Amino acid sequence: MNNSIKIVLFFLLLTILNTGCAKEKKETRPIVSVTTFPLYDITRQIAGDTLKIVNILPFGVEPHEYEPTPKIVANIEKSALILYSGAGLEPWTAGFHFKQRAVNMSQYVSLHTFENTRTIDPHYWLDFQNMQKAVAVITQELVKIAPKNKSLYRQNEKAYLLMLEKLDEKFQTGLADCKRDTIIVNHNAFSYLAKKYGFHVASLSGLSPEAEPNAKNIIRLMQTIKEHNVSTVFFEDFASDKAIKGVANATQTAVDVLKPLGNITADEAKENLTYEAMMQINLQKLSKALSCH
Ligand SMILES: [Zn+2]
Repeated sequence: MNNSIKIVLFFLLLTILNTGCAKEKKETRPIVSVTTFPLYDITRQIAGDTLKIVNILPFGVEPHEYEPTPKIVANIEKSALILYSGAGLEPWTAGFHFKQRAVNMSQYVSLHTFENTRTIDPHYWLDFQNMQKAVAVITQELVKIAPKNKSLYRQNEKAYLLMLEKLDEKFQTGLADCKRDTIIVNHNAFSYLAKKYGFHVASLSGLSPEAEPNAKNIIRLMQTIKEHNVSTVFFEDFASDKAIKGVANATQTAVDVLKPLGNITADEAKENLTYEAMMQINLQKLSKALSCH
């Protein structure tokens, strides 16, 4: 290699490195930290690229009883706004002294309480009306931290609300005329959908997938499958599927994935999958499992 080529290469390299550094330094957008995938999806679609959105819970991690690392806490401290799900989903928020504005989103939605246990189901984002309430609150909060983008945010809010309305209609028609009435799932995350669209859910573990499944629950599930002529047993991405697949095997029912959407996998994040897209897939699976139409 002669000297002039070396010099050209050297400056080329210098330019590439400089651009890289300049890009990092340019990040001046306010940071919004969110705890769950539905809050991430709403914030991302309302804000576009006007804000830096940080997902506190890393993609691919199970949302119940997650604890942020000190590094993540340090990042939360830098945010202009923190949106968390609430309703018992993030126990770590109780001991956390937010220096900035933190919004517990659960105070703005209709929460479902199980009558027998008096516990609140924290998976309220699986109710499209609740999502609409969250969209309105988040839009207001984003306008507060970036008022110059108000008209853009309002426009995106309108589109998101309309999308939710259409999803609700699709679920209503898609689950209106079904031969079966019960689904089996790994953890009890689907009470909002069940209540709204008129089916029953039996789950292997309780509200958190980390609870150990016991023999009594397994026997109860097998009875339910028989009594209700259940076709499909659902498992999920972030919990062990061993016990639930064992139940399917013993009762000769099909297995499939249904997504509670508290979080998504790293691959789904790479593909930019939206709440809307994944709820449409959930609908297809529910409709098939319940033998609708
Ligand atoms: Zn859950």
